[in-house]
Order: sequence, then C-alpha cells, then structure tokens
Amino acid sequence: MPKNLFDNRDCKVHLSRISAEPPAGMTRAKAEKRFGTLGDEMFELQDALWGAKVHSVLVVLQGRDSAGKDGTIKHVAGCLNPRGVSVVSFGVPTTEEREHDFLWRVHRHAPRRGEFAIFNRSHYEDVLVVRVHDLAPKKTWKERYGHIRDFEELLAEHGTIVLKYFLHITKDEQEKRLLEREKDTSTAWKLNPNDWKERDYWDEYTAAYEDAISKTAAPHAPWLIVPANAKWYRNLLVAESIVAALRDHRRNWEKTLDDMGRAGRAGLDAYRAELKARKNGGRRRG
Ligand code: AMP
Ligand code: MG
Repeated sequence: MPKNLFDNRDCKVHLSRISAEPPAGMTRAKAEKRFGTLGDEMFELQDALWGAKVHSVLVVLQGRDSAGKDGTIKHVAGCLNPRGVSVVSFGVPTTEEREHDFLWRVHRHAPRRGEFAIFNRSHYEDVLVVRVHDLAPKKTWKERYGHIRDFEELLAEHGTIVLKYFLHITKDEQEKRLLEREKDTSTAWKLNPNDWKERDYWDEYTAAYEDAISKTAAPHAPWLIVPANAKWYRNLLVAESIVAALRDHRRNWEKTLDDMGRAGRAGLDAYRAELKARKNGGRRRG
C-alpha cells in the first residue's frame, strides 16, 4: 500500500510524516505528459461508466484554504465529458441546511449511476471547521464520524466509487500562495481575510484532519493524502488514482455494454422481422 493511501481505520495518520513535495525524480514535464495520457483514459472509462449505469463516482476534495481544490477540479473535471459530471461546492450552511441533519445537503448531491460528482469541501467540514471553531458540542461532532462511515458505506453498497482526497500543502506554501493572490490582479478576487484567520488554527486543523482521515478510512472509501505543494504533481496523482479505481471495473462495464448491445440488436432484428412479416402478409392478402 502506498504510504499516503489510507483505506483502513487502524492506520493513524500523521500529516507531519508525509511530504507535501513530489517524489524525487518526478519532473513537471513527465507529470504533464502522463496526465495527458491519463486524461484520455479517464474520458474513455467515463463513457463506459455512463453507458453501463452500474456505478457512480464520488470525488471528495478537502484541503486548507489555497490547497488547490479549485485547480484540481479545473484540471481533472476538464478531462471528463461535462454531460456526466456535477461539481458541488459546500460553504457555510444556509439556514435551511442548518435546520436539517448535516448529511442532508450532501446526500441530495450524491451521484446517480453513470455519473461523477465532485465535491469541493463536503460533509467532512462538519468534523473539521465545526470542531476547530466549536460550532457544535464535542459530543455532536464526535458522533459524526460514525454517521459518515455509515453514509459512505450506504453509497458504496449502491455502487458509488467513493474517493477522498486531502490536498496536503505546507504552511509556507500556503503563505506563498496567499501572498501571490494579492499581487496577481487576475486572482485577487479570491482574497479573503478569513484565509489568514484560519491559518492561525493550522495545528487545530491538522489534528482535526488526522482524526477525520483515520476514523473514516475504509476499503470502499479510501483517503489519499496528495502531496500538493506542486500543482502539476497534485493533478497527476488525483488523475492517476481515479483512473486506477475505474480501471478495476472496466471489464464489468464492457460486458454490460456488450449485453446491452446484443439485447438492442435482438430487439431491432425482431422489429425488422415483424415488419417484413406484416409486409408479406399484406401482399398475400392483396
Ligand atoms: P470557500 O471554499 O473558500 O468557498 O469557503 C467556504 C467556507 O465555508 C469555508 O470557510 C468553510 O470552512 C465553510 N464551511 C463549509 N462547510 C461548513 C460547515 N458545515 N459549517 C461551517 N462552515 C462551513
Ligand atoms: Mg477559500
């Protein structure tokens, strides 16, 4: 098992032990070339997913401010056919959302069979920001780990391939990105003093993420900790893991599509035979 893949509740995550940098030997040129190939494969796999309607895919993106959730969506969703993808961002809950259980707003956006859903933040905020800022009693957010596990198990039983990503950046990298935003007029619209305020809670978020990841990692809903200081490596790793997860089902989908093709062809043959019989019957009568 790669050391940044967590698919088991028994492994305790220590973010400080996981590098946020690309591995030695990996270059931007290599990564971008590989990303292009993977993008084509992802597109093809998505077509089979769409046609077979056996599974759906849920990609959960979590990370601190400026970790690259939006950039990942732009690049990875950019490989897909928009017909079958929805991207949903979860911000501060509305009054209506707050008046429901915390999974209500999320569950309604779970992907239907054949489709992808990409979550920009998610139900995990309810054990992250909520924990760090005491937005709910400890007893409440602690119970949510179990609710999340059950929820993701339900999705998986229904055929959803659940893939969860923590985009891992260092505190220095975050500072650099936030300062760059100020300088660059094209990204200045993203400026938000709250990002600097949240930075003061770096360690509290680290603890909250480590628990969230450890307590909800499962074979049917693994977490991947993505070294995300380099955007090109982050994109590569996310694409690589999505393609690897879909590839496991390729044969199954292709078989379903073949069966559907055979059934369609048999239906068409029967229809043509019936037409012919009707025509011949008409001729005989006439
Ligand atoms: P952004 O991703 O920059 O659009 O910011 C969305 C904001 O919504 C972040 O500051 C999140 O912490 C916040 N947020 C998302 N979900 C929740 C939640 N369940 N409770 C409180 N705040 C949330
Ligand atoms: Mg933000």
